[in-house]
Amino acid sequence: MSAPIYLDTNATAPLAAEVREAMDPWLQHRPTNPSSVHRAGQRARAAVEAAREQVAALVGGAHEIVFTSGGTEADNLAIWSQLGWPPSGHLVISATEHPAVMEPAVALAALGVGCTRVPVEGDGHVEPGVVKAAVRSDTRLVSVMTANNETGGLQPIGAIAEITHQCGLPLHTDAVQAAAWLDLSEHARGADLLTLSGHKIGGPPGIGALAVRPALGLSALLRGGGQQRDLRAGTEPTALIVGFGAACVRVLARRAQEATRVRALSEQLIDLITTAVPDVHVTVHGPRLPNTVHLCFRYLNGSELVARLDLDGLAASAGSACHSGVTHGSGVLEAMDLAPELARGALRLSLGYHSTAAEIERAGGIVADAVASLRANSRMVR
Ligand code: PLP
Repeated sequence: MSAPIYLDTNATAPLAAEVREAMDPWLQHRPTNPSSVHRAGQRARAAVEAAREQVAALVGGAHEIVFTSGGTEADNLAIWSQLGWPPSGHLVISATEHPAVMEPAVALAALGVGCTRVPVEGDGHVEPGVVKAAVRSDTRLVSVMTANNETGGLQPIGAIAEITHQCGLPLHTDAVQAAAWLDLSEHARGADLLTLSGHKIGGPPGIGALAVRPALGLSALLRGGGQQRDLRAGTEPTALIVGFGAACVRVLARRAQEATRVRALSEQLIDLITTAVPDVHVTVHGPRLPNTVHLCFRYLNGSELVARLDLDGLAASAGSACHSGVTHGSGVLEAMDLAPELARGALRLSLGYHSTAAEIERAGGIVADAVASLRANSRMVR
């Protein structure tokens, strides 16, 4: 049987060899608490601070880095930190945010904070003017993601930042999916708070960061031993942080080249599938991540397709929020006003730095065959 093909990078990217190598000594030689005053602690401190600079470089070098346990915590920190305690005021988010932004907004709304979800256009992008119209006198924060995890669609962060700054408001952007592919100093230009996650860019899971514009006030979510200048208490996990830093160095060295190579592969994959398969809708035609292919097949159920592809050696995702292994209707596709019969047949194929031309050629054939075979046995009406 041929080697399995992994096209689910937006769920998690394979751990890069150079990341594992960088982490190795920190996993083997203990103790590594960077807050310890002895020499072992100081060595760990130096490694953590070097990694902090590596992560800062990925977002352009102008932000301070607060390490977190991942993208989810960084999103929560960004949002809760700007609404005060007890929380008050008003928050603006887009209708296609990741649950790591949506759910804190829901929790804040239950505590009396106003929350406006601005709608997206049919192609998934937020019109900056709509953000402006949503701002109120008590608005404290606007949060719009850089790139969508399901569709790969990009948001006009630079234009939205201009508006929030005219209104005197900070902008948070969840750049978790964009970081491996886009120059964030350009595509997330003006963002005051940026969320990053290690395991989406070739680093280890369990580590992420909130990049914070220096003058911006931030109140802590986790309180305790005063680590990270009281902004995020908890012993810094040296090995994970070193691995995250190494992943950022790797992305900076390879991003431009990989973005071009992988965009060509993803376009080829779209061509292969849309040529071989009838009744398929390409979800994003506007600006998108180079690695993300989102397709909707009529007369098919996306989760059945994903299960079938898995048996055929291709790891993909139904694209409809599969956050905890539970697949349900996608709020993102609903917000884009996609017809339910299309949204039901959603498939996300997300390529990575590891993807090869030979794999993409094979993947195109596997998807086309699986769709044909499932449709032949489907009871869905044509
Ligand atoms: N934000 C986006 C856009 C994501 O895709 C994810 C992960 O799926 C997260 C946040 C959460 O990141 P983590 O898994 O590091 O908590």
